[in-house]
Parts: sequence; structure tokens; C-alpha cells
Amino acid sequence: MNEAELLFTDILGCSRISLYTGGKRRMPEGKCVLIAGVLKRRILGEPLQYILGRTEFMGMDFRVTPDVLIPRPETEILVETALRYAKIPQGAPRRVLDIGTGSGCVAVSLARYLPQSNICATDISAAALRVAAGNAAANGCGVDLFYADIFPPGESGFGMIVSNPPYIPEGQIESLQREVLYEPRGALCGGTDGLDFYRRICAECRGVLSHPGLLIMEVGYGQAEDVRSMISATPGMRVEETVSDYAGIERVIVARRQS
Ligand code: GLN
Repeated sequence: MNEAELLFTDILGCSRISLYTGGKRRMPEGKCVLIAGVLKRRILGEPLQYILGRTEFMGMDFRVTPDVLIPRPETEILVETALRYAKIPQGAPRRVLDIGTGSGCVAVSLARYLPQSNICATDISAAALRVAAGNAAANGCGVDLFYADIFPPGESGFGMIVSNPPYIPEGQIESLQREVLYEPRGALCGGTDGLDFYRRICAECRGVLSHPGLLIMEVGYGQAEDVRSMISATPGMRVEETVSDYAGIERVIVARRQS
């Protein structure tokens, strides 16, 4: 749906189709006031998902607040890649870890589509973890949430680690479209070159990844080559595949622990 459709279906509580086929009806006064209020905020640059407090991801509904990154359509490629690997001969991994879960969109989707697996997720923001917990409950999924910077302390034996870490270079944040500036800086900023989290994840992943486990990460525009080199330089890890998004941009990197 485009933004106008999202706005009207949400506020009028109707389907997209009925916007076009429902004939001419007078809009109740109260709804007009609501729509005018939303439009005012939207015109000032606030993302529609924050105004409505929700978005859709992998066919599920997620609550979003300014404490969490708004789930992006590209991130569905991260989830789809993880699901594709989870279904290959060895079957679903017993334990999966989502690093930097934010709204919980990745972890909750994996919990829904891999009901046999134990899904764990971390975030350094307590407010984000509260949103993720609400989203897991609302979607009827169990996710073990940990307040932690990257890895959950004392946990290991993950057959799969997934992450969409903050990857925007610090100096580029202010020049991004104004909507992005409403999102939490901690969910966007990946240090001077944007690659800080990949460095930290690569450096420590072998301690928590089982053998042969998979590390599957989303990367930003133009970062794939650097992240592949980083993985290749990590003892015991090798790059397995790079998946591009629908715009042809290398978006998801799959690595395997081989020793
Ligand atoms: N995992 C969440 C998402 O993909 C949050 C990512 C983040 O905050 N960088 O939307």
C-alpha cells in the first residue's frame, strides 16, 4: 500500500479495496479531524509508521515507536535468506540469535516461521526490548529477549546468528532524508565508516556460533565487499553467499563457521 492508502485504511478501519470500491460516502467529522492531524505531522516530516504506531513486516503487524528503527522491506530479504538456509537438509537450527532486534521484526518473524527453534534476541535499548516483547506477544510468538550489547552473556551454541546492525557512517546521518532523523540514532549509526558492528560481530561470533553455524547479516549500500573481506579475514569463517535486493544492491551476506 502507498502512504495515502495506509493512512486511510488505518484511520477508517477498512480494507484497501473498499477505498476504491466502497462508493461515495461522507467521512465522519471525527475521522476528518484525525486525518488532518496525521497529515500535519506527516508534512513536518514524521514517518507515517510512527504516527500510526504500526507497520507491516513479513505479513505481520508490528507496533513501532520512536524507540525502534522502522522495519524496512529490504530486511525481509534477511529473514527470507535465514529461512531458506534453515530449511536446507540439516533442518532448522535449534537456537537462533538476532543481534540488535529493535522492534523485534526479524526475531518475531523467525519465531513464527521456525516454530521448532529457540529464538533469542538482544538489544542495548531497554525501550526497544519492551516494544519487541509486545510484538512477540501480539503475534503469538516466543522470543527470549536479552538486554545486552551484541551477544547475550553466558549464552552460546547458536546454529544461526542474524543481524541488521546499525550501519550508517556517522558523518552521513545528518544528510539522510528528514524522516530518518526521527529514528533512534543508536539504531542507525555504525561508527565512522559504518562498519563497527560487523567488526565486533566477526571478532566475537565464533565464541557463540556452533560448528557449522551460519552468520547472516544485512549490509548497507556499498558495504558488501568490506564485510566479505572482514569475514574472510576471520579465522574459521568463510563467506557462503551474497544476496542482492530487488534494486540489485548487495544486501545480505551469509557466512559459515567452518572450523
Ligand atoms: N532488527 C531491527 C530491524 O531490522 C532493528 C535494526 C536496527 O535497529 N539497526 O528493523
